[in-house]
Amino acid sequence: MRVGFGYDIHRLVPGRRLMLGGFQVPSEYGEDGHSDGDTLIHALVDALLGALALGDIGSFFPPSDPLYKDINSAVLLKEAVRFIQEKRAKLVNVDSTVILEQPKIGPYREKIRESLAALLEIEAFRVSVKAKTKEGADATGRGEAVEAYVVVLLED
Ligand code: MG
Repeated sequence: MRVGFGYDIHRLVPGRRLMLGGFQVPSEYGEDGHSDGDTLIHALVDALLGALALGDIGSFFPPSDPLYKDINSAVLLKEAVRFIQEKRAKLVNVDSTVILEQPKIGPYREKIRESLAALLEIEAFRVSVKAKTKEGADATGRGEAVEAYVVVLLED
């Protein structure tokens, strides 16, 4: 068994899409970033790469590379899934926490889970998405950013 942990944060700005786990959450603010800024996918990719001790998302998909400009983060996740398959490892489960003040993502939780499960090619019962706020404290609590924490368990 191998555990992996990932974290990410993106600023929220007007006029960008709010992507979480490959699902577009209706919102007036979205993630700023070189890619589409899908904070949950970025934390998940780091967790998967971490479990395999393969480095981090920045070393695999350098933000300086124009190839990744505005890229759909689902493409990055599919690449990480391919690494797992190459190592003949099996993804046992994913547990995640998204920290976001607004909008509340509870109503979209199942959509996000289903989206992630499909991208990961595993059953939805293996994917957990939890939602929290920062109770108004710090920049994320003021609605200036979205954060995600993810742990994964692999069997190799
Ligand atoms: Mg990121």
